[in-house]
Amino acid sequence: MFGQSMVSFAALSGPTHVLESANPAFFATIGEDRVRMGAPVAEWMPELAGQGFIDLLDQVYRTGEPYIGRGARVVLGTGAQAREGFFDFIYEPRRDSTGNVIGIRSIGVETTQVKQAQRLMAEHRALLEQIARQAPLSEVLDGMARSIETIAPQEVLASVLLADSDGAHLRHGAAPSLPDFYNQAIDGIATGEGVGSCGTAAHRREPVIAADIATDPFWADFRDLAEQAGLAACWSMPILARDGALLGTFAMYHRSPRTPQDTDLGLIQIFANTAALAIERHHIEQEKAAAEARAQAAHDALAKAMQAEKKLRAEAEQRAAAAAELNAQMRAAAAAQAGAQRPEHCQLGGSRGCAQPAEIKVADSWGDAAWGCTNHVEEALLNVRSVFIASEELGGLTAYRNR
Ligand SMILES: [Zn+2]
Repeated sequence: MFGQSMVSFAALSGPTHVLESANPAFFATIGEDRVRMGAPVAEWMPELAGQGFIDLLDQVYRTGEPYIGRGARVVLGTGAQAREGFFDFIYEPRRDSTGNVIGIRSIGVETTQVKQAQRLMAEHRALLEQIARQAPLSEVLDGMARSIETIAPQEVLASVLLADSDGAHLRHGAAPSLPDFYNQAIDGIATGEGVGSCGTAAHRREPVIAADIATDPFWADFRDLAEQAGLAACWSMPILARDGALLGTFAMYHRSPRTPQDTDLGLIQIFANTAALAIERHHIEQEKAAAEARAQAAHDALAKAMQAEKKLRAEAEQRAAAAAELNAQMRAAAAAQAGAQRPEHCQLGGSRGCAQPAEIKVADSWGDAAWGCTNHVEEALLNVRSVFIASEELGGLTAYRNR
């Protein structure tokens, strides 16, 4: 039963902590091929020394006091094989019949998944807060991509593509870790069967898993591009609105061929849902802004029309007032000149002549004078420069010289 448990167990002996026995969970956790029975721990797990764990073993062996570690971070393995893990563990002394410490019993439980779930919740909450305070969409999606890259235990490159309004094409959304040439080549791809994982997922409205891009039929047209970018697997999930409309795709790329576990798909689904929230929110904001802009434009147009009308009315009123004043002046002049000598008919009718009686005398600054009917006088006053209504007192320069 102990062998089946996820609790890893190891018995170490002597001051150099030689491995005496261990359960299968210990082998599975540390790595089957690395563990060496009968050899000191530091020899086959050299990474422990730099992280303080050999010191801890030495301390327990020396003092006989057990050590309890909670949520301790351990980097297991070295180089490309290194992985981060979190453990609750106990180092307790093993004693002989007389009470002398002869070794250490190590009991550990890996809590990496718990730790990951906690991180996921924290990242997720931060994203929701970002969405709630209406951060720009690109910022939210970028943050989301970086979150999943941080949380995922293996190297993962996240990508969000956004569907255009007719759902026929996918545009670059966020992919902070994918190379620019790759993002540029993908930007604007059509949705459809066989257009990589994302184009196909968008078209099918369901997840599309390419565990090995090198052999995946959906990737036939993009294989070289993916190889150039060092991408070996791509799991894509459609991002759907509440009404089922396509909003985009969320994808996780890997450097080596990989098939997702249920937990991976769960993680992708959570982020696809979060992305849907952010994108829908963004669309609502955009529509609101567009409606506000339309309302503002209509308001501006109305204000402009009202202003133009007001101006026209003011001008019409001005013209009417000027015409009334001119009429009054002409009536007064006609009355004043009633007794003066005058021709019988209007002299301002041009070559055709005018049969109306001569009523008002006008003159200009050069000394010419003429009698006209009210209509022709008004026309002359309005159209001929320097014409004014003459009065009998007006003597001109001759009168001035003879003063
Ligand atoms: Zn006339």
